Amino acid sequence: MLTPVLEKVLILQDRDARRRGLEAQIKAVPVEIDLVEQKIASEKAAIEVARTGLKDLEIKKKLIETEIGSAEDTLGKYKTQQSQVRKNDEYQALGHEIAGTEAAISNLEGQELEVMFAIDEGKKKFAAAEVELKQNIAGHQGRIAMLRERETSLRAEHERVQAEFNAARSPLDETTLRLYDRQAARALPVCVPLHDGKCGGCHLKVSSEIESVARGRSTDGKLAACEQCGRLVYWES
Ligand SMILES: [Zn+2]
Repeated sequence: MLTPVLEKVLILQDRDARRRGLEAQIKAVPVEIDLVEQKIASEKAAIEVARTGLKDLEIKKKLIETEIGSAEDTLGKYKTQQSQVRKNDEYQALGHEIAGTEAAISNLEGQELEVMFAIDEGKKKFAAAEVELKQNIAGHQGRIAMLRERETSLRAEHERVQAEFNAARSPLDETTLRLYDRQAARALPVCVPLHDGKCGGCHLKVSSEIESVARGRSTDGKLAACEQCGRLVYWES
């Protein structure tokens, strides 16, 4: 039998559970926001890698251009020298150098073309990745905004339930509240039904005295507490 006091304790417990549930949800929000922010950071890091790769290619292109420039200078010198030599063997030796330098320049120009092609491809990919990044970040930021809104409404709800919880405390006497609070500090539920003489919390058998109190046979309005776990027990008919 549920005594009027126990009925009030059960109301308190129900509001306490709702209050705690909301507190857990509020606590989870910043953790979720953190995860989304980590996603944004890793997307930005990925685009930075692509940007650096493109820069490296530009540097490589400049180096090849410098090499081509100096090879062309050398080629010019050889050609001038060749026009000035009189001996046939010297002329031929320079002709050999000229052919070698021209081959080297042609090779470098081939490399330059490859790098330029890679730069064009890289730019296209980078532009596409940037568009995708912006979309993803917008999505993530939308999620963060939603989470913040959720936090605001959870806090409002918590405030309401907290007030209800406080209101549920006022009709209870100090001893009952102390019993409740001591047990609630460990865990909920504080108040559990008896099943076959066993506590609904720890599932151990309570004494016949406690069972009798829980059945409402004691007239002094005393609350029945499980001897094993301390939860308040009541008889569920
Ligand atoms: Zn128990």
